[in-house]
Amino acid sequence: MPDSQPRYRRVLLKISGEGLCPPGGFGIHPEPLNRVANEIHEVVELGVQIAVVVGGGNFLRGANFSQDLDIEIATADYMGMLATVLNALALQEALDRRGHATRVQSALSIQRVCEPFIRRRAIRHLEKGRVVILAAGTGNPHVTTDSCAALRAAELKTDILLKATKVDGVYDDDPKTNPNAHLYERISYNDVIDGRLKVMDVSAIDVCQQHHVPIIVFNLFKPDTLRRIVLGEALGTFVGED
Ligand code: UDP
Repeated sequence: MPDSQPRYRRVLLKISGEGLCPPGGFGIHPEPLNRVANEIHEVVELGVQIAVVVGGGNFLRGANFSQDLDIEIATADYMGMLATVLNALALQEALDRRGHATRVQSALSIQRVCEPFIRRRAIRHLEKGRVVILAAGTGNPHVTTDSCAALRAAELKTDILLKATKVDGVYDDDPKTNPNAHLYERISYNDVIDGRLKVMDVSAIDVCQQHHVPIIVFNLFKPDTLRRIVLGEALGTFVGED
């Protein structure tokens, strides 16, 4: 049974860029943007501190973009990081409209647009009940925003990393092609690191394991799932110790 009080005091939410556009789409669309903002709003209303790492895949992913346009991978990755800033600013506006104090902190310095990422300052914002949106990933090429989510969860000392996806959690096969695919309720970091199951980049899982940050993989497209998880319902797939 869910608790009436939130189970977590501070959470890190990782949303992919594709959470902000229709399936297979490009850019930012009002309906998915507002839906994501509503889901975050519900969690903030519970008094839970929330930091959000946004991806940029709705604009571009470095690896594909580099190949398609014959652009140096590091350059394409920086472009990907800038794409996350677009998403972060759109999400900030959507949360502002819901009355939430929100700060965007970027790992690449863009002072005219948002704050730089400063760990202690981010924690202070969280303590004051502000939503902190973390843009530009880690600021380094050759990794993804999943790695950023793991690193920030560790350094901001969040109780959990909530990884939003398009499906209900981690399965033993692709649920989109195999209707009999089995959804795991709980798996270990090692199941992912050993390559048996795919959740996030292995480097991201490694950081979570080292710093004892559990992960819940859940469906962002099912309304109210995020709030229910924060209240302690066993939805999605929990990734933790063996
Ligand atoms: N990226 C990067 N370093 C980071 C985070 C992101 O180079 O720390 C680049 C990388 O090219 C990546 C793109 O930004 O493909 C968009 O991020 P990601 O693929 O993680 O977005 P998502 O799939 O979550 O929307």
